[in-house]
Amino acid sequence: MAERSAHPELARLLDPAQKNELAAVFEDHQLIDVLRRWPAEWSAEALLATVRPAAPRLYSIASSRKRVGEEVHLTVDELRYDAHGSAHQGAASSFLAALAEGAPLPVYIEANERFRVPADASRDIIMIGPGTGVAPFRGFVQERAETGAAGRNWLFFGARHFNTDFLYQTEWQDALRRKELHRLDLAFSRDQADKIYVQQRLRTRGRDLYDWLQNGAHLYVCGAIGMGKDVHAALLDVVREHGGLDEDGAREYLTQLHTEGRYGRDVY
Ligand SMILES: Cc1cc2nc3c(=O)[nH]c(=O)nc-3n(C[C@H](O)[C@H](O)[C@H](O)COP(=O)(O)OP(=O)(O)OC[C@H]3O[C@@H](n4cnc5c(N)ncnc54)[C@H](O)[C@@H]3O)c2cc1C
Repeated sequence: MAERSAHPELARLLDPAQKNELAAVFEDHQLIDVLRRWPAEWSAEALLATVRPAAPRLYSIASSRKRVGEEVHLTVDELRYDAHGSAHQGAASSFLAALAEGAPLPVYIEANERFRVPADASRDIIMIGPGTGVAPFRGFVQERAETGAAGRNWLFFGARHFNTDFLYQTEWQDALRRKELHRLDLAFSRDQADKIYVQQRLRTRGRDLYDWLQNGAHLYVCGAIGMGKDVHAALLDVVREHGGLDEDGAREYLTQLHTEGRYGRDVY
């Protein structure tokens, strides 16, 4: 880019002494932003030859074949944001959102053996999945309903607004009525002045949560990385408070759950 645009600012950024400034540019510039900011002559072929093929994107499967047959349901949050005065879209999520019905799409399956419904169907499960993190749990609840799993299903869901972001609201309500879902705790962060997140709900429900875990429940967390960390911290507080443990004891408790395959995390 620097060679072609012959732009002094770009050449300057490539000086090793400017590496922090260059990193800051990479932080919020896609290829298109660089091209717009430092225009240069490019043929399509020459430009393509400089870039790597697009990386695949992963999406959780949000359905069970036992309920939906030969289909795979996804829960996709279309990425849109403004930067440098222009609107940007997510390469994969916006592509998917714009896909015509019936259009073919190359996909592959990446199995996650550590993130499955318990082999022992009598175990309770606790699912923590705000935002699109709820996707696999829709599949879990369908699967457990279709197989007549005896264990109870408890879902923690969170999003910004009840009215616009409550994914699968009516399905969860139906599932509760049909006793396919046994407990549902919700946190809508922007519906009131104080932001409420799922981790606060975990703390309020700490007593029951701990009892479920003591009773052999499997715990699952899916969604944004930052949320996963906050949830982990809340879980440490819960087992410390209700298990009468110190900090090391609480950490050990969660490590043990993980080792037993009872604490699955899928964060991205
Ligand atoms: C195991 C796993 C499971 C997943 N499951 C799901 C799922 O079920 N549902 C789902 O929707 N997603 C899921 N994801 C995320 C998904 O794979 C994609 O990362 C997501 O859809 C965005 O891809 P994209 O191509 O649309 O965006 P991209 O084109 O890759 O754009 C993302 C980039 O945009 C830039 N960007 C984003 N916001 C801003 C901003 N405000 N300002 C400046 N720059 C910004 C950042 O540089 C970011 O790297 C999962 C990811 C993993 C790893």
